[in-house]
Parts: sequence; C-alpha cells; structure tokens
Amino acid sequence: MPYIGRFAPSPTGPLHFGSLVAAVASYCDARANHGHWRLRIEDLDTPRTVAGATDAIFHTLQSYGFSWDGDIIYQSKRHAVYQAALDQLKLQTTVYPCTCSRKAISEIATQTGLEGPIYPQTCLRQPIKANSPLAWRFKSASQPVTFNDRFLGIQTQNMATEIGDFIVKRADGLFAYQLAVVVDDAAQGITHVVRGADLLSSTARQIALQDALGYSHPSYAHIPIVNNALGQKLSKQTQAAALPLEDISQQLYQALVFLHLRPPKHLASASISACWAWAIQAWANSDRT
Ligand code: GLU
Ligand code: ZN
Repeated sequence: MPYIGRFAPSPTGPLHFGSLVAAVASYCDARANHGHWRLRIEDLDTPRTVAGATDAIFHTLQSYGFSWDGDIIYQSKRHAVYQAALDQLKLQTTVYPCTCSRKAISEIATQTGLEGPIYPQTCLRQPIKANSPLAWRFKSASQPVTFNDRFLGIQTQNMATEIGDFIVKRADGLFAYQLAVVVDDAAQGITHVVRGADLLSSTARQIALQDALGYSHPSYAHIPIVNNALGQKLSKQTQAAALPLEDISQQLYQALVFLHLRPPKHLASASISACWAWAIQAWANSDRT
C-alpha cells in the first residue's frame, strides 16, 4: 500500500516545540514506511495569517533537516476547489444556509458539546433571515462515527450530540478548516494522517465530510500534545517560543524524548542527519509502524 503523509502548519506564527513534535512524528512515520511526506500551508484564515510566517516555517523545516515531496499547496489559493466541494454538498442537501450570529446561538442553545453550544438547527426549521450574510452548515448524522486511531485505538463520536451541525463556510466567506482539510487531504492523495491529539475530536467531522464527498478515508494517528508548565497547549495564544535555529539536535532529541523513543544522550549533540537516521530507525522498530 502506498504511503503519503503530510504536515500542515498554519502560518499564524513561527513553529514551536509542539509543532516540531507533530512534524517529527509524521515525518518518521512516513520515512519509516518508505512513504512520501507532503507539505501544505494552511493559510485559509487570511485575517490570522502573519506576514513572513510561511517563509519562516520553510526556513525552520529546512534547518531542521526535513525534506518534503512534491509541490507545496497553499489553502489561500484554493477557494474555487473548496467552493466546488461545497456545491457538491449543496446538491446533496447535506448542508444548509445559516444566518445565526454566534451571540444568537449562545443565547438559544440548550445543549453544550465538546466545542461549545450545539447549534439548535434554527435555520433548518424556520426561514433564514433575508439580506443577512450566510454561513453553510453540515448536518451531523445521529448515528455515531467510529474509526480506529492507529495510536489510540477505537474512537467513537456522536456528532449530533457532541458537536452538532458544524460550519463548512463562514458568513464572512472563508471556508472552514474542516472542509478545506478534507478536500486537500484528498487532493494530495494523503493516506496517513499523523497529528496532535488536539485534532482528535475533528476527525469524525472529517470522516463524515469524506463520506459525503465520496473520498476515501486516510488512516488517522494522534500523538499527545505538548503543554507548557501551566498545563496549556503550546500555541501562539499561549506565547510558545519559536523553535531556535541553533542547537537543533538538542531540540530534535527533546522531541524524540517526548515521543518516548528513548534516544541516547549523545544524539543531543550529534549531527542533524545522525538524529534523523536514528529517529527513523527507532520509529520503524517501535510498535507504532
Ligand atoms: N493546520 C492545523 C494546525 O496547525 C493542522 C491540521 C491537520 O493536521 O489536520 O494545527
Ligand atoms: Zn442559523
């Protein structure tokens, strides 16, 4: 079976140690499986994109010794492709327009799910407001979505009660991450997704969209997320430090420790290529592949 993996950073800031762990895990998995590793820049949310962040990400990845296969894709250039997917969903009536504001939803919702209020399907049940900006929502089925996470085992989510009908295109015209990631994973032929467990609860939505769009399902594997000393996920919001461009082997070593690969101490001061050779071999020998 061919293997095509990917790394899909959002250029909202520099890569940090949490991004490195996700990149190392997906890279080792791809290389240990003699697969390809593709790169995608998730600059979909243009207002949050930081100037220069994409170039800084390339520079950091190159400095750390990552090499990617094929063309890089940029979500900011793919609106027509996402629109075509949305049009396909509209034909199937698996999506419906919604004119509710976030504030209105929080006032009328009676159920809270994993990511906030469950949308009470107002716009499905009554006419939408005229002359209001339209968002598009995907109808969450009431039967649970189940998948076998390669690292975490069987996962089940009842999208109707845990997530609700979710947005695939926002009222401001931007496509939602859930739709774009599914369209792009299919377009890039991704067979294996390895990413942080902060995205575990998104997977059922992505599988439901793949089913609706007639795409095959990649295999999913979620790795633990990296927290700071306060127990917060490393992110731009929690002011995670940018990955340094010196002592790179030390950073790679720490990422391998985090991933429980038990690297030998000397790797922390070895060459970058020695770190990678060791890491890919250790990953191949672990029970993860
Ligand atoms: N762009 C997402 C992030 O930076 C990753 C998306 C994914 O791996 O599915 O968190
Ligand atoms: Zn609505």
